[in-house]
Amino acid sequence: MTKKIVSDLDLKGKTVLVRADFNVPMKDGEITDDNRIVQALPTIKYIAEQGGKVVLFSHLGKVKEESDKASLSLKPVAADLSKKLSKEVVFVPTTRGEQLETAIKGLDEGEILLVENTRFEDVDGKKESKNDSELGEYWASLGDLFVNDAFGTAHREHASNVGIASHLETAAGYLMDKEIKYIGGVVENPDKPVVAILGGAKVSDKIGVITNLLKIADKVLIGGGMSYTFFKAQGKEIGQSLLEEDKVDFAKDLLDRAGDQIVLPVDCKVAKEFSNDAEISVVSVDDIPADQEAMDVGPKTVELFKEQLQGAHTVVWNGPMGVFELSNFAKGTIGICEAIAELKDANTIIGGGDSAAAAISLGYADDFSHISTGGGASLEYLEGKTLPGVESISDK
Ligand code: ADP
Ligand code: MG
Repeated sequence: MTKKIVSDLDLKGKTVLVRADFNVPMKDGEITDDNRIVQALPTIKYIAEQGGKVVLFSHLGKVKEESDKASLSLKPVAADLSKKLSKEVVFVPTTRGEQLETAIKGLDEGEILLVENTRFEDVDGKKESKNDSELGEYWASLGDLFVNDAFGTAHREHASNVGIASHLETAAGYLMDKEIKYIGGVVENPDKPVVAILGGAKVSDKIGVITNLLKIADKVLIGGGMSYTFFKAQGKEIGQSLLEEDKVDFAKDLLDRAGDQIVLPVDCKVAKEFSNDAEISVVSVDDIPADQEAMDVGPKTVELFKEQLQGAHTVVWNGPMGVFELSNFAKGTIGICEAIAELKDANTIIGGGDSAAAAISLGYADDFSHISTGGGASLEYLEGKTLPGVESISDK
């Protein structure tokens, strides 16, 4: 189903409620990574330029009790937004009531207001997180139209996304639209051949993703910590490497069914300790020493995966190939970034929080067609689930 996007709406003079994702990391009241704010700017600017009155909503962190509120105010976000937009952003330090209503009524065309953290409503009965119907209806009553640009929250059914959407004409913002096109495109109608690369820590986190991508992809390349459970299933010695004993049967079953659709590493980097100072050796996956732990794929695996990627029209990647946070075990992940960067004609997509962070921190942010901004949401999307935040957007 094709969803409405913000450019389909007649915005002039309208009060436009916008759900953005300003759930940014903060330390002592300072924003430490503003990527999500940057990504929200195109939609906000567009609505303001079209003469809409912009009312922004977002959650920030988890608000369990009254005392959490002090450190989880969105006030610093309003200041940062104002700087980035070079215009005033009115901050209203509450989520309901006369002060909010009066401030919204006072907006002129093109002006911008930010409402306090939607999860302040969670202190009294989790109204935001449980999609309390009265709350969604109340927020919706404050505007004429709704634009949902918070992909990172799309796998949740909250009052500030699904609740508001059930009362107003709703469109995707530009960021949401991009996520639907790229991540949704992989699961719904990918350009073939499709190669999926899966890694990361645990098989158990990725069962849904592996199962669904096996239905879609021509090849599924499996690296990272999860690959050792597959090697165990093949009866190999995996030493001290990550193992999920209770997923060995699942891995065995997949290997039996998938045949050569699944491609596993051929070599790995092992060490005695989980440390950057540990002595490293590269061994075949058939020769992992009993007292060592495999923490990255080896160079032959990078070459093998590179070959498998040739000719792919769609590449979807979730999960680092190794413990990329330690520079000595980042080479496998870097190698895959490089291999993907060389694929000029393919649609290349990363889903998953740590995978996205890895590609960005290693310097490959511009080498992918799309790096998802939603960790959990992108995983659920790749599992083939429908996301309530996406579903609730009006159809064209
Ligand atoms: P994503 O967030 O992209 O879905 P995951 O959370 O599944 O990815 O996995 C990321 C984590 O997996 C990283 O912290 C990385 O250090 C870890 N990891 C990758 N390979 C290994 C390995 N061989 N041994 C232990 N941990 C690993
Ligand atoms: Mg993760």
